[in-house]
Amino acid sequence: MVALYAHAPCGAATKIGMSLAQILDNLVQAKLELKQALLKAGAATKVVCLVHIDRGAEEGKRTYFLSAAEWQLMTRHNPIVPGRRWPAQLAKAAP
Ligand SMILES: [Zn+2]
Repeated sequence: MVALYAHAPCGAATKIGMSLAQILDNLVQAKLELKQALLKAGAATKVVCLVHIDRGAEEGKRTYFLSAAEWQLMTRHNPIVPGRRWPAQLAKAAP
């Protein structure tokens, strides 16, 4: 099994303007690309996406599983667009 990790908040990602949604989307894309490459090489290895989130001094750091299938369902009609708030409906609803 391969575990792909992202972490948030990430100083480097923030510095280049990446949102958490973009980070998670990139993580899922990385999983899909890795799965394809592994299959091509004849290795049916399981790949999981994990996100390490620092919730501050009180709650500490926690690791969460990110379901690539659920993420794809959630973003299918609301694709992640760099530089745009996500989901788009929330951006429109905001005052
Ligand atoms: Zn970082």
